[in-house]
Amino acid sequence: MPMHVPIKIFCIGQTSVNREEVRRWLDHMEATGYEIPEKEAVTDPALLIALAAKRCYKSFEPGLNPNVTKVRTDLVAYIDNILASGHGSVFEHSVYNFAIEGVSRVFTGEMNRHRAGWAISEGSMRYIRFDKDIPFWMPTSLQENPNDDADLAARKKASRLVFDQAFGQTEKFYSELLRIWDMEEGSHNFHYKKRVTSCLRRIVGMGVATGGVWSGNMRALRHVITMRADEPSAEEEIFYVFSQIAKLMVEREGMLFGDFEQDANGSWKPKYRKV
Ligand SMILES: Cc1cc2nc3c(=O)[nH]c(=O)nc-3n(C[C@H](O)[C@H](O)[C@H](O)COP(=O)(O)OP(=O)(O)OC[C@H]3O[C@@H](n4cnc5c(N)ncnc54)[C@H](O)[C@@H]3O)c2cc1C
Repeated sequence: MPMHVPIKIFCIGQTSVNREEVRRWLDHMEATGYEIPEKEAVTDPALLIALAAKRCYKSFEPGLNPNVTKVRTDLVAYIDNILASGHGSVFEHSVYNFAIEGVSRVFTGEMNRHRAGWAISEGSMRYIRFDKDIPFWMPTSLQENPNDDADLAARKKASRLVFDQAFGQTEKFYSELLRIWDMEEGSHNFHYKKRVTSCLRRIVGMGVATGGVWSGNMRALRHVITMRADEPSAEEEIFYVFSQIAKLMVEREGMLFGDFEQDANGSWKPKYRKV
């Protein structure tokens, strides 16, 4: 029986700042007058970016660098100026970690092309054997929508049936191959099972649901949101994921992503495109 799964995004981690050690560092640089903003005033990822940027010119307070006679104390304006001037390398210091489940190899194939600033751990189809069901996410474009006219609704329904049949057929073929290679027996060692599992994955379509962990720095995240939370050009699945990640980042990291706005199509457009 085909198994439909949802796509779920879990924000499982993010950069945190050790304020005591930052104080020791600032004092070491004789930036004793610089007050570290309270936790309520700034998130840790934004604070780390601001501290790294301020270290460049020693612009924690006027006079610390004799060339600096005034400093921006408003962190929102300070970070906005970094974005406006394209000095985005400091955005690479802070990272968010996402576990994403239920996505297909259509998604991972596209996502994993983004090499700069990302760490990737994707579920292994070499080691993980399918059980009775081969799970998949029904694309948004085939899901029911109350706004559809009768013709479109009928085409979608017929398409969903074909998807179910295609995955159902694959499940039957996959089970047959498991039977041929005695995989249901408990007698085989791990090496044997791995070799058979790795071989058999070739008959499974790229729509099969998988998952993994993707960790991206703030500069890389801004880039991928710009490219992939863009409704006219992005593939529907990566758009589905990154429009949610865009919303989450705008809500949680207003100082770093506050220049992104959502248009009527649901795309997220930044004011500062290349940082
Ligand atoms: C709508 C759309 C359609 C696409 N169609 C295809 C397709 O048909 N075929 C295909 O193969 N790919 C396709 N891609 C993938 C695309 O070509 C990129 O490989 C992918 O989006 C990764 O983005 P990126 O190159 O910006 O790399 P990222 O790793 O995200 O890099 C971010 C930025 O860092 C810089 N950078 C990264 N690596 C280097 C480097 N080695 N040297 C110099 N600068 C670097 C660049 O400025 C780059 O934009 C498509 C992407 C989109 C969004």
